[in-house]
Amino acid sequence: MQERYFSFEFFPPKTAEGTEKLRNTRAQLATLRPKYISVTFGAGGTTQQGTLDTVLEIQREGIEAAPHLSCVGSTREGIRQILATYKDNGIRHIVALRGDMPSGMGEIGEFRYANELVEFIRAETGDWFHIEVAAYPEYHPQAKSPRHDLENFVRKVNAGADSAITQYFFNPDAYFRFVDDARALGVEVPIVPGIMPITNYSQLMRFSEMCGAEVPRWVAKRLEGFGDDRESIRAFGLDVVTALCERLLSAGVPGLHFYTLNAAGATKAIWQRLKL
Ligand SMILES: Cc1cc2nc3c(=O)[nH]c(=O)nc-3n(C[C@H](O)[C@H](O)[C@H](O)COP(=O)(O)OP(=O)(O)OC[C@H]3O[C@@H](n4cnc5c(N)ncnc54)[C@H](O)[C@@H]3O)c2cc1C
Repeated sequence: MQERYFSFEFFPPKTAEGTEKLRNTRAQLATLRPKYISVTFGAGGTTQQGTLDTVLEIQREGIEAAPHLSCVGSTREGIRQILATYKDNGIRHIVALRGDMPSGMGEIGEFRYANELVEFIRAETGDWFHIEVAAYPEYHPQAKSPRHDLENFVRKVNAGADSAITQYFFNPDAYFRFVDDARALGVEVPIVPGIMPITNYSQLMRFSEMCGAEVPRWVAKRLEGFGDDRESIRAFGLDVVTALCERLLSAGVPGLHFYTLNAAGATKAIWQRLKL
């Protein structure tokens, strides 16, 4: 059995202050020895330079870096150039996504779905990149039906993905069922749970509304009840997310991918509680 692995996700900072803060976060999280760190990519290429700069900095620090690459709003030539830049810089791991076009911004571009991007990366660069794709245990909010979404996930894997990272979730049974269903359709690649630490009630509810992740009613109610008491929110969030990770790890998941939101504290606290 493959050893389980852990990874962290950052977004590219927009200011010098944010860059400094992220360096500090990285210094703290690097001691946990992640398998890799991934860096998000603004759909339509809005963070292209920021993603590249951040990824190269991580790589210089001796950690494997995986840029996200979203294809919506892009041309084949544009994606080809980005891939060439990563390849020239020795990057070998990529998270391939469709992305969501910010409203009012530009044309859909030459790729419609992530499976087309995966196919393109394989056709252009062969086996150079380890390709991750996104998975949605509670289904993608735009999916026609759960079945259709699952089939689209399978199509993405069959196009050449090596592994998958899920959208975050708080219902482990949704994840277990999704993995069983994907396995029944022949998917063999690791499907790594994405973990969202809870530190801020309104932000969590806003993100979850957008991405279609369900915050169980009892969790939402408890968080809401804490009002502005950030300490209680953090303490309760730590209990909930640690219990989720414990359940996933004891069921033998291939690893965990933490959505750090560029902060070290909550991820480190979960890590310590899990005694990893
Ligand atoms: C781990 C992770 C990391 C992410 N990182 C980023 C990031 O860095 N930047 C960013 O902008 N966004 C990011 N996102 C968000 C992601 O881009 C959005 O969720 C987006 O709406 C879908 O991207 P996808 O790659 O899953 O799309 P797809 O797999 O293309 O799916 C999108 C929708 O289209 C449907 N679909 C797929 N293929 C077909 C087909 N052939 N025919 C008909 N319907 C189809 C699917 O069922 C789904 O409803 C991330 C999400 C996850 C889970």
